[in-house]
Order: sequence, then C-alpha cells, then structure tokens
Amino acid sequence: MITTDICIVGAGPVGLFAVFEAGLLKMRCHLVDALPQIGGQLSEIYPQKPIYDIPGYPTINAQELVDNLLKQIEPFNPGFTLGERVEKLERQEDKSFIVTTSENTQIRCKAVVIAGGLGCFEPRKPAVERLEEFEGKGVAYMVRNPELFRDKEIVLAGGGDSALDWTIFLSDVAKRVTLVHRGETFRGAPDSAEKVAHLAESGKINLILKSNITKINGNGHLNEVTIAGADNAEYNINADYLIPLFGLSPKLGPIADWSLNVEKSAIQVNTFDYSTNIEGIYAIGDINTYPGKLKLILCGFHEAALMCQSAFKYVFPDQRLSFKYTTVNGVNAF
Ligand SMILES: Cc1cc2nc3c(=O)[nH]c(=O)nc-3n(C[C@H](O)[C@H](O)[C@H](O)COP(=O)(O)OP(=O)(O)OC[C@H]3O[C@@H](n4cnc5c(N)ncnc54)[C@H](O)[C@@H]3O)c2cc1C
Repeated sequence: MITTDICIVGAGPVGLFAVFEAGLLKMRCHLVDALPQIGGQLSEIYPQKPIYDIPGYPTINAQELVDNLLKQIEPFNPGFTLGERVEKLERQEDKSFIVTTSENTQIRCKAVVIAGGLGCFEPRKPAVERLEEFEGKGVAYMVRNPELFRDKEIVLAGGGDSALDWTIFLSDVAKRVTLVHRGETFRGAPDSAEKVAHLAESGKINLILKSNITKINGNGHLNEVTIAGADNAEYNINADYLIPLFGLSPKLGPIADWSLNVEKSAIQVNTFDYSTNIEGIYAIGDINTYPGKLKLILCGFHEAALMCQSAFKYVFPDQRLSFKYTTVNGVNAF
C-alpha cells in the first residue's frame, strides 16, 4: 500500500500545481490519473495549442506548460500512478482515507484532493459487433505498454494524431501494422500524415483509406478483422490486436458515486478553501463549481493555493501554519 499525506485524483495542470503548493507546506502527494500520461486536457486534447492567459507567459504551448509544471514540482518528489482510474474512496476510523484504483492499487492518505477536470476520458468506440467481448483480449483503446504489441499483427483505426503517432511508433515494434481510416485525408498533424504516407509507400505499413472495420472475430482472443471499402465489399485480415483511436469523451465516472454534492456534473465546494461536503476531501480545477466559477487553468492554480492552507490543518492538526513567500531560498526555504 502506498502511503502519503494527500492523494490527488487527476494529474492535469491543477493537480500538478497542487503538489507545489502542498510541497511548500511539507505535505507529500501522490497523484493518480486514468490516462497513461501526465497533463490532463492539455496533453490529451491540445498539446500543441498556444495558451495566452498564463500569468508571466505571453504565450506558452500546452505541453510546454505541463513540462514546466513537472519541473516545478520535481523538488517535492511526488508519486504517480498512471493509467489507473480511481474507483473507490473509503474513510477509515482514524479519519484517513484509502483510495483504490481500477487495478487495485491502494493509497492511504490523510486528505483527498479531487482535481479530476472533466472526469475520466472514456474512449469513443466504433459500432462493431462483439467489440466488448474482445476488450482486453485483443481490443485496446489506448497504448499503455507498447511492448504488448511486439511482433504482433496490429490493426489501428482512426484519422487523428493518436492514430498517426501510434502507427509510426508501432511500425518499429509490431510484426505488421495496418492503419484503417474512413477518410482520404487525416485530421492529425501534416508532418505525421506525411510520415505515415512514406511508411505505406515503402511497404513498412499497410494503409487502408476510405474504409471501415465492420466485424471482428476470434476464439477467446481476437484473430481477425473484417474491413469494408467504399464499395462495401468486405475482406478479412489477420489481427492479434485492434486499436480503435477515435478520441476520448469525458464522463464524471466513479466520482459521481462518492456521496459528494454534485451539480451539473461538477462538485460543489466552499470557496473559502475549496472543501467539499465531506471533511478531508477537496475539489479544485474544472471539476468543481461555485458561483462565478471560470474553467480556466489560472483559476485552478488559485484554488490549489487556498485549498492547501486548509488541507494543512487537516493533515497536521497539531501544527501551526506560518505563511511564507517562496523568495528567500526558492523552494529549499521550506
Ligand atoms: C480545446 C481547449 C482549449 C483550452 N484553452 C485554454 C486556455 O487557453 N487557457 C485556459 O486557462 N484554459 C483552457 N482550457 C481549459 C483548461 O484546459 C482546463 O481549465 C484545465 O485543463 C483544467 O485542469 P484540471 O487539472 O482541473 O483538469 P484536467 O486537465 O481535465 O485533468 C483532469 C485529469 O483527471 C483525470 N481523472 C478524472 N477522473 C479520474 C479518476 N476517477 N481517476 C483517475 N483520474 C481521473 C483525467 O484523466 C484528467 O487527466 C482549454 C480547454 C480546451 C478543451
């Protein structure tokens, strides 16, 4: 079991900055995110988009902001559990919590901070019969561990950045990669689309355009995918894995079952300290709601700072909190 002072649900920008604010007050943090990478919406939805409203940065690319946040919290050495969804929150008799993830990782903590943004991103699934039967047995919606696909026959489907990026990456790992896309052109970065076209021309991958996956087949594990082209003629290809990458849509997920006061898919908080209706549980960033709420990164940062002042008293009830600026010796002053 992992033990920490604060378990942060969500490793988006607001969860990351909360580690910094908590670290200044000597509270240790462990972050859990359902996505395989750090950065929340910034890394998942718009990594290359410039952001213009971060104080002190006239412009900063979304992924660069995530990288900077990670650098800023490095001195506090937070723990990360990625690719696992927080499913359960249980309060213990001593008022601590045990947080349990979808993979049964358990984290014992004194306070819980929900920085879950828009909730869990659920994969958009293609309308193919028997899809659910093969989930975890050949059908995957994310590439968590590329080694799983080493020397296997892989079919990827989709036309965005994820489909292009993973096609390029897996072309060096898998035995054979086939990319199926219903369109003729890609939505992803032109540079990646060009690389995929080169890989297809050189015979390193199979690129099948203007086509859809219509059926899947197997015996206990996927072994065949049926593809239909524009003329609706169907044909089968061997496949150990099918990876549909049609994007992710956000859902509140298990957070809705934790007896928190929820209004329109957001957690109600007290703006004094961003506490929820359950003592020891806080909610910051896009996941919370209060009169005047703005879903902006800078608002989440402010919420993280105020939340930590209150969480300190909950985590260390016997200690006095003295407010300091970070200027004296940087973070080492704390
Ligand atoms: C296209 C676009 C452009 C934007 N541009 C700007 C901009 O220019 N400036 C600005 O300030 N804001 C912008 N925003 C808004 C900004 O992205 C959000 O305000 C910000 O991402 C909120 O950060 P967060 O950390 O609260 O949540 P998120 O970034 O959503 O991160 C939350 C994380 O929590 C995880 N999670 C949720 N539930 C669970 C669970 N049960 N278990 C484990 N993990 C969980 C999710 O997987 C996710 O990674 C933009 C948003 C979009 C979509």
